[in-house]
Amino acid sequence: METRRLGRTDIKVSEISLGGVAFTWLGKKRSEQLIDFCVENGINYIDIYSGTGEKIRDSLKKHRQKIFISTRGNSKTIDSTLQEFGLDYFDIFLLSMIDSREQLEKAIKEAETLEKFRKQGKFRISGICTHNPSLYSEIIKSRVFRVMMVPVNCIDVIDRKIFEDAKHNGIGIIAMKPLAGGNLRKYDSAIRYVLNLPVSTALIGMARIKEAKQDISVLKNPIITNQDNVFYRKIRRQLGKVFCRYCGHCIFPDPCPEGIPVRTIMMLETLAFQANFKRKVSEKILKSIENCTRCGLCETRCPYKLPIRKLLPVKVKKYLKMTEQK
Ligand code: SF4
Ligand code: SF4
Repeated sequence: METRRLGRTDIKVSEISLGGVAFTWLGKKRSEQLIDFCVENGINYIDIYSGTGEKIRDSLKKHRQKIFISTRGNSKTIDSTLQEFGLDYFDIFLLSMIDSREQLEKAIKEAETLEKFRKQGKFRISGICTHNPSLYSEIIKSRVFRVMMVPVNCIDVIDRKIFEDAKHNGIGIIAMKPLAGGNLRKYDSAIRYVLNLPVSTALIGMARIKEAKQDISVLKNPIITNQDNVFYRKIRRQLGKVFCRYCGHCIFPDPCPEGIPVRTIMMLETLAFQANFKRKVSEKILKSIENCTRCGLCETRCPYKLPIRKLLPVKVKKYLKMTEQK
């Protein structure tokens, strides 16, 4: 598999990489088989989630010399996550959940503490993970982080300039959610879209060897086709006004006056997928939409103009249906 340099770091990541969300529900054996398959087929970068150490620690050890490993968290979680996975260091450590301006300011301050950990050899490259496109330019300008992990998929027309700017400033882009959290079933078109942008890798949360095989096979036909373009237009019409990008504008800085966790509810389908269709979101959260006064504040904040008031009950209903058998 071809590799691409991650910004101006010395890391060259495979064009397709393995997001570790499925290890939260897969058993140890299947997790290990998936990692073995991916590594044997050229994937050299894995992003791991804390809480999955028991299942993948041995695999990471087995392949450590051949793979780059990243994880997300904050300066307080570095030691415990290293310990959980039995690792000496991470290749990339990303500050996560940085979706508001205030969080970014804190993250930039926290970078000084992170630097101490880096000098102690606990990780090599620092990065930041955000879902909020309005922060990208600020992150690039700050030049504090060497890697940005951001959602990239064909539901939105992506402004190449931002990524070119990141590249120009030596910042590597890890494109997460290329399949929009399982919402883009036409994986080949979706992956081609992402890899035709100036990103270093498409980080895909694969759960099965069959999926990994399919995703990797897309690299044989990397050029965007007319059919792909038809798909992009269709998916934008279908999902553009219902798909939550998790940007956080509806909860930062003015959260819902009724305390409804709008973003969580808008993301329920993706959360169901991430939890392997098991019901993990509490009744209290699901029922909170009953308190909606339809004031519309959340909608005025949403840059994608999602009709949130209308969608909240639809999302809950769909989530209950998706998870009813489990
Ligand atoms: S419309 Fe409903 S969910 Fe949105 S801010 Fe108002 S009360 Fe909260
Ligand atoms: S509902 Fe809109 S503003 Fe809120 S997280 Fe989703 S995309 Fe962002």
